[in-house]
Amino acid sequence: MSRLAHPAEDPADSRTHLLNNHTADHYRAAVTEGVARISARIATTDRPFTGVSVDELAPTVAAVDLDTPLHDPAAALDELEQVYLRDAIYFHHPRYLAHLNCPVVIPALVGEAVLSAVNSSLDTWDQSAGGTLIERRLVYWTAERIGLGPAADGIFTSGGSQSNLQAMLLARDETCRRELARTGSPEDTRLIDLLPRLRILTSACSHFSIRKSATLLGLGAEAVIAVPADDTKRMRTDALAAELERCRRDGLIPMAVVATAGTTDFGSIDPLPEIADLAARHDAWMHVDAAYGCGLLVSRRRDLLTGIERADSVTVDYHKSFFQPVSSSAVLVRDRATLRHVTYHADYLNPRRMVEQRIPNQVDKSLQTTRRFDALKLWLTLRTMGAQGIGELFDEVIDRAADGWKLLHDDPRFEVVVQPQLSTLVFRYLPGGTQDPELTDRVNLHAREALFASGDAIVAGTKVDGRHYLKFTLLNPETTLDDIAIVLDLIAEHAGRYLAEQPAAGRPAPALSAR
Ligand SMILES: *Cc1c(COP(=O)(O)O)cnc(C)c1O
Repeated sequence: MSRLAHPAEDPADSRTHLLNNHTADHYRAAVTEGVARISARIATTDRPFTGVSVDELAPTVAAVDLDTPLHDPAAALDELEQVYLRDAIYFHHPRYLAHLNCPVVIPALVGEAVLSAVNSSLDTWDQSAGGTLIERRLVYWTAERIGLGPAADGIFTSGGSQSNLQAMLLARDETCRRELARTGSPEDTRLIDLLPRLRILTSACSHFSIRKSATLLGLGAEAVIAVPADDTKRMRTDALAAELERCRRDGLIPMAVVATAGTTDFGSIDPLPEIADLAARHDAWMHVDAAYGCGLLVSRRRDLLTGIERADSVTVDYHKSFFQPVSSSAVLVRDRATLRHVTYHADYLNPRRMVEQRIPNQVDKSLQTTRRFDALKLWLTLRTMGAQGIGELFDEVIDRAADGWKLLHDDPRFEVVVQPQLSTLVFRYLPGGTQDPELTDRVNLHAREALFASGDAIVAGTKVDGRHYLKFTLLNPETTLDDIAIVLDLIAEHAGRYLAEQPAAGRPAPALSAR
């Protein structure tokens, strides 16, 4: 068989850009060039952000003519410097202290390159082969670390929100199945009558994706009962017990109790053993949202998660405390049979007979169909640096948060909310000589915005009891106590400047400005 000569060198020929046996060299050169750009950028980035505003950057992106290609990978990368790389937010920088974004480990980046080039899709065995087996090993590995027992299973997902959604779906359908079985024939109780009686109990500090899941699952956000948290932002189990009793009295069905192992704002870990007792007593599904705290599974602080092994389902976000690039997440279940609630068979993809033939099709356990081989990143991470290496990095940021808390606690310019169990610090600047809560709110909002606009550091903000606070989320072992002290000084400077510009009492305050 003869083939036409391949136009491997003509960049205007679309076939040059398809990865195959003819273009392997071109692929290597193009990707190497891209990697060279990003490594040069990372080596020289001296701030987490340039402070560019939307109004400054938007015209640059809008000016790109998407219908006139450059036909030159190097030129496309040059352009990318202007529209993206120059002004991106860089999480690897030690003064990026805002959200739950981690610096990423290099073995995972090798994995990212490999998985997108091979482009396996993890929905079926016939689109992934070894990829399916690798994902399964990592699911079992994680379930074993949690201690979920011999029937455990799970699936990689796009993130904690999707993991929580899937867990709530399984909880809903298991609860309904059991309820219908308990109350006799389906004529007596219909599914549609059950749904309005279902309740999810979770702490007031839990992640909003639980409420969103309730809405998506047809329960409505009001199906979520917010159980109060104590002073340390952990769920109050006396209040949980009272709410469970109230559900019973009112003829409601506690479909799930959701504990958070590492709340997004405070890193607080709900009392898992007591919650497990209460969930068991009331026959409710126990879900643990460990999107943030999952790094403890490989840390020397594993005992902080005691009780997680009693969960029916667990959310883990490797892209938070396992230092993995987005996306990398999973939902784990104690009883693999419960995953049947997301199993649908399609003739073209995963016909029922394949189950009898024992062909492992991961789509049978997933909300997604076509799905990335994200597991490969974790695989290469574990094979290169090991679980202990990951745990050491996470332990280091937890140590740093403890030191940062002392720093804040001893600094009269600031007030800090709770002593952290993980790696967040929620605090606010206190303007001396005023008790005006509105002014305190404004000065903290201003300091955060001004810091962002300067690009010197990025911090987050949140509300506590209706008032504005600032937040450090530490996930970078390179962040030193010095960095924290310097950022606190910067915040105090911006706050001080804002206060100095305040008009005397009685006159209206100037509008908030980002600069
Ligand atoms: C971040 C977070 C989530 C959501 O995870 P995504 O990966 O962002 O979807 C859920 N729960 C908690 C506790 C989180 O911190």
